[in-house]
Amino acid sequence: MNRILIVEDELHLAEGLRFNLEAEGYEVTVTESGEGALDLLLEKRRTFDVIVLDVMLPGKDGFTVMAELRQAGQYVPTLMLTARGHPDDVLRGFAAGADDYLTKPFELPILIARIRGLLRRREWLVASLAGSAPPPSQFVFGDKTLDWERQELRVRNEVFPLTLMEMNVLRYLVEHRDKNVARKKMLEEVWGLHEDTDTRAIDNFIVRLRKYLEDDPAKPRHLQTVRGVGYRFVPFP
Ligand code: CA
Repeated sequence: MNRILIVEDELHLAEGLRFNLEAEGYEVTVTESGEGALDLLLEKRRTFDVIVLDVMLPGKDGFTVMAELRQAGQYVPTLMLTARGHPDDVLRGFAAGADDYLTKPFELPILIARIRGLLRRREWLVASLAGSAPPPSQFVFGDKTLDWERQELRVRNEVFPLTLMEMNVLRYLVEHRDKNVARKKMLEEVWGLHEDTDTRAIDNFIVRLRKYLEDDPAKPRHLQTVRGVGYRFVPFP
């Protein structure tokens, strides 16, 4: 049975979700605060298959919780609940390490579909690690290997686990390697954002990827900024 952790302080909403997700066959745990989530995941080492994480929480907010989980090496797929009318929250969420998002208020069937999507990608990953899938697909450039199936970047002896969204961005950049990609185009094709989003917010995300990809993140060679346009990924500079 798949286990879901709901982090939400609006208890009527949290309990409504619990009721409906249990009816779908999930095992549901609810916590009202970010501190509660960190305690369950990092201290008590409870395991979950998906986290539904609200942004607006008392104490630590969802962005902080997300960032602390990823920093601690906790990569459970996470769906963030953001407020409508704050498109930049979506990018902040992805920059913190979220895998998907939904704006409040949302329709329950949409939430359930998104949770299924995260579980499917996770199951596919687990199956490929167990050796039941074709050989791992990788993109190798220099001393770096992007491993799509293991969901990681290997740089010499270092391994950087990647979130699903980081993988999507890197896959997009690899598919468009050696070409200029516009920020707006990336927002549309990778994040599915068609709103009038401040495209500069994507830059925070790129800064994070550079920390993994670049020998000197301050002087990027692979993930170059194209002034006035966006970015260009150059595997062999
Ligand atoms: Ca809330």
